Amino acid sequence: MKNNTLKEIATELLKAESVLLFPHVNMDGDTLGSCVALCKGLRKLSKKAYVLIDEDVPLYLNFLVKDYCVRDMSKIKNPDVCVAIDSGEVSRFIKRKEEFFAGKKTMAIDHHVSTDPVFDFNYIDPKASATAMIIYYLFKEMKVEMDKEIGEALWAGITTDTGNFQYSNTTKETHLVVSELYDLGIDHNKISINIYENVRKEKVMMINKIMDTLTIFAKGKGALCYGTLEMLKETGATPDETEGVVESIRSIAGVEVAAFLREDDEKEIKVSMRSKSYANVAEIALRFNGGGHKNAAGCTINSTLDFAMKMLINEIEITLNNE
Ligand code: 5GP
Ligand code: MN
Repeated sequence: MKNNTLKEIATELLKAESVLLFPHVNMDGDTLGSCVALCKGLRKLSKKAYVLIDEDVPLYLNFLVKDYCVRDMSKIKNPDVCVAIDSGEVSRFIKRKEEFFAGKKTMAIDHHVSTDPVFDFNYIDPKASATAMIIYYLFKEMKVEMDKEIGEALWAGITTDTGNFQYSNTTKETHLVVSELYDLGIDHNKISINIYENVRKEKVMMINKIMDTLTIFAKGKGALCYGTLEMLKETGATPDETEGVVESIRSIAGVEVAAFLREDDEKEIKVSMRSKSYANVAEIALRFNGGGHKNAAGCTINSTLDFAMKMLINEIEITLNNE
């Protein structure tokens, strides 16, 4: 399998009559924003298109859902193309695996360095600051006329994946694309409030408990915290409401690598890692069969929380000592 050109991807999608889009689990603004934007764009070309999900949409992304997201495939049977968006490996949408391969053709549109081109069609561009950027260029290629709704969905993807235009993946190109989204009449302030200022108090209580678990190691260069099922029960928060904690602890002065461990089950620990500048957390995540980007990566460790924590601290220390 190989990486295709954007033109080949566009041609394939233009040929299709029905397309089913697959965001990755633990969905974020980029995967869902990109899916919704592409879904609307395909519908504008009179194609049947839906976004297939298998989890509740986090509150901060609810504004994107409308009638695009569905939980069962009955709206489209045997789609012409199934597209993994913002991921390119089956493990990132494992519960929808069967539905994905029910597509006559499979495709991935992604920007993760760790993604290999394994489907019938693949477009993986690690230089893109967000998958939403790729969708923007794809629309140009497909000659889709973008509108305000598409612009807002793309903006949601770009703002979340660039840390609101702060991270090193933010470039002149990012701003140039975004400047064109403004021309579509997007209300960026409304979207910002939806994404960044829309938390439930349960989330604040949960983050409070998580912050109590903070450990600093590797001579101040490592920071780690965790959230347990018990804490979720006590606070009434949902697992996705731990979003953002790992960035908070990365912001500590001197910290280069931050990790947050979320207990999803007794022996299922979801790990989120972030680095500030030089450390490559995708490499650490890969050691645990995960992946991601240099500065933001994740994996799932099937062990107890305690053991996962010990293994992770050890691997992070090795990486930091090698720098
Ligand atoms: P997060 O920590 O926000 O869940 O994810 C950070 C980045 O790493 C995202 O780009 C996400 O897609 C990627 N990522 C998170 N968990 C995994 C995983 O288990 N496998 C892979 N391949 N990528 C992951
Ligand atoms: Mn992304």
